[in-house]
Amino acid sequence: MLTTDTDNKDKSMTTEGKQTKASAKSADKESEMKSSPLHKFFRDALKDIYYAENAIVDALEKMQKAATTEELREAFEDHQLQTKKHISRLEKVFKLIDEEPEKKECKAIVGIIKEGEEIIKSTKEGSMTRDAALIIAAQKVEHYEIATYGGLAQLAITMGHNKAADLLEKTLEEEEDTDYHLTDIAESYINLDAEQED
Ligand code: FE
Ligand code: FE
Repeated sequence: MLTTDTDNKDKSMTTEGKQTKASAKSADKESEMKSSPLHKFFRDALKDIYYAENAIVDALEKMQKAATTEELREAFEDHQLQTKKHISRLEKVFKLIDEEPEKKECKAIVGIIKEGEEIIKSTKEGSMTRDAALIIAAQKVEHYEIATYGGLAQLAITMGHNKAADLLEKTLEEEEDTDYHLTDIAESYINLDAEQED
């Protein structure tokens, strides 16, 4: 709250003085914003997905090697490249909200990736059953990302971080496209071929 005294001082300020005060005010507003519970949650959620995206790059490498069909291998390879872009977009988002990119262990993605590794162990190499199962494992990853990016993009809009929201929405679209593409591959022939295996 401004006191009358401060108001009087304000009136006597030069243009330069006013500008300094204005920038100090916006710095105040910024530090106020950065200490808000929602900002802290948003920053921590970004750290969580930043960790997850990095873990996904490694997981997609293993899934590529384990896949039976060329088509699924290519889908994993393409999405691995996209995932690297998601990482650099997140780094831009951190910068836009004036935070350092940092990883915070995401227990959910660790579990989902572990499930994928178990699928590789429990299915036969070169089988279509393995691909059918790998697609579902990959879609679990995509759905986790879709939930995260969808929610964070909305929060970014609410908090007035419009550029950050655009970046998060771009990634969201790519995760959704990947999810649809995996469904297409499964339904085109992989599930049917897997069903014939004994
Ligand atoms: Fe991603
Ligand atoms: Fe993804």
